[in-house]
Amino acid sequence: MKLSRLGEFGLIERVRRTTAQGRGVNLGIGDDAAWVQTRSGSCLLTADLLIEGVHFDLKWTSLYALGHKTLAVNMSDIAAMGGTPAYLLLSLGIPATFESEDVEEFYRGIRSLALKSGVSLVGGDTSVAKSLFISACLVGDAPYRPITRGGAQVGDDIYVTGTLGDSALGLRLLKRKSPKLTQRAAKFLLSRHHFPTARVQAGATLAREKLARAMIDISDGLLQDLDHICKASRIGAVLAEETLPLSAAYRSLAGHDGTGHALAGGEDYELLFCARRRDRSRIEKLQGHLNVPITRIGTCVPARYGMTVLDRKGQRISFRARGHDHFKQR
Ligand code: ADP
Ligand code: MG
Repeated sequence: MKLSRLGEFGLIERVRRTTAQGRGVNLGIGDDAAWVQTRSGSCLLTADLLIEGVHFDLKWTSLYALGHKTLAVNMSDIAAMGGTPAYLLLSLGIPATFESEDVEEFYRGIRSLALKSGVSLVGGDTSVAKSLFISACLVGDAPYRPITRGGAQVGDDIYVTGTLGDSALGLRLLKRKSPKLTQRAAKFLLSRHHFPTARVQAGATLAREKLARAMIDISDGLLQDLDHICKASRIGAVLAEETLPLSAAYRSLAGHDGTGHALAGGEDYELLFCARRRDRSRIEKLQGHLNVPITRIGTCVPARYGMTVLDRKGQRISFRARGHDHFKQR
């Protein structure tokens, strides 16, 4: 079958079905990170690729920002399990035309975040390549029982950290070479695109307090990633469009796109999680401690209702795209 029909997630599902769960594997393929036993405890493992021309364009990304983002997106998957990022393996395919200073700039970006986050770079691999190719593997501690995508129940509330759509809207401005790029609002959106924040403390707190029953980080778009929770938890979801957290910059520059980028834009690296109704006030209080907004955006419903987004009048919004799939044509 052509990958354009099967899609990225269809392909991963096939690999998952044909892979035996080895000894010591608590959680294998199919979540934000694997959770495995070691002799002394357990750890989390995640890997991500960043490919020039697919994930980034060096015309509008500095190597420093790219280094920072490489680590941040991996940290985000560890955060989505409630873990603590710890050790990084980093492999690079680099065109021979690059200067050593370019590569140093990339590592400066990695180090700036690694230092703040207690992550140690412990190895990797290097090769020549036709275009820049970055492969990272991050190992995390699992001090609390990891939160999977599969624990949400009908009646649970759905929450998201931070604001949505900023990164995707920032990228759109870059691609259109928008004249607005120097405005303050545009600068904010670009910084969200180039320097995403992994919500490590929020993820760990939600795991420690056993508040999140299912959790994922939003890398491919809110709807796409919510669909992963729905499938894994065998539930449906209803979202209220007016509750989606949008930044002032997003509101001022989204124009006709409305909530499009917030629903399906991708690369937010915010946490999406489900929690019991009775924990509402505990979750509200958390916001203050964590210094990050946490917004209730919907409810879990029986699977037969699928995933719906309602507008202010309670009418269903139809969405063409849910988010990013590497192989499916849009
Ligand atoms: P995320 O967006 O959180 O990084 P992905 O959608 O990339 O998650 O991956 C979902 C799951 O599939 C993860 O458990 C990941 O490790 C696994 N996975 C992705 N690609 C492959 C592959 N080529 N072989 C085996 N497992 C894979
Ligand atoms: Mg993820």
